[in-house]
Amino acid sequence: MSSKLVEFKDVSFRYGEEQPWVLKNCSFEIFENEWLAIIGHNGSGKSTIAKLMNGLLFPQEGEIIINGKQVNEANIWDIRKDVGMVFQNPDNQFVGTTVQDDVAFGMENRGIPRDEMIRRIDHTLAAVNMQDYRFTEPHRLSGGQKQRVAIASVLAIFPQVLILDEATAMLDPKGRKEIMQTVSNVQTSQKLSLITITHDLQEVVQADRVIVMNAGEIWEEAKPRDIFGKKDALRKIGLDVPFIGILADELKHAGIAISHEPLN
Ligand code: ADP
Repeated sequence: MSSKLVEFKDVSFRYGEEQPWVLKNCSFEIFENEWLAIIGHNGSGKSTIAKLMNGLLFPQEGEIIINGKQVNEANIWDIRKDVGMVFQNPDNQFVGTTVQDDVAFGMENRGIPRDEMIRRIDHTLAAVNMQDYRFTEPHRLSGGQKQRVAIASVLAIFPQVLILDEATAMLDPKGRKEIMQTVSNVQTSQKLSLITITHDLQEVVQADRVIVMNAGEIWEEAKPRDIFGKKDALRKIGLDVPFIGILADELKHAGIAISHEPLN
């Protein structure tokens, strides 16, 4: 039985006492080695969930437990060792002059010895298939390559939980594909919980489980194929089911079995 790495217990959040609640009684769990996709239209509360997991925000009601520790102001640095985040804009995440410097940066801040750093740079760049770009200047990379380096930088810290918050939103279709492939590889090769946040249903196909957010509430929690089966209801909350999901649903209704291997 794999262990529980993230737990939201009845979490409610608002950005100020006079502000409306943007999360209402949200409860969910994520286990080790599991890929959870969180989807919802803009403003449904997805990024707020990510920020609560990283101690950038704290809930007014309820409790968040990461790797056995409650997220609170006293232990945010401890929590941030366990939770790595990759954001939307790859250009905002670079600090080094080469790819290697960039991956090293977070490790230097944590006082990791040099030979261990070199081992981790090799390992994480290989995990995102960027080993040939070690000495490249980050600004020479494509958007998808930049995000792969950003993922390597976070993996080098050995997080228990990796969160990608709209990490493909600024990429072209090729870059998106690269990232989804990388994410899928990372999920199978590293023992961590992976959370991808997106407004694009196409990106939930490979996840183990999907949470659909609507107006700050968990609207549905299910496997991707079961989510796609609700295309009319999804449209009502502003989500378009991709062609592949419609096809899977049609085949299911026609009684034609389909593989549950990832659909690319
Ligand atoms: P999503 O990631 O699904 O687009 P967010 O979590 O960013 O949604 O936002 C949820 C709600 O919280 C939205 O109504 C948004 O306008 C509001 N919100 C987000 N950030 C702030 C903030 N810093 N101050 C006040 N309201 C905010």
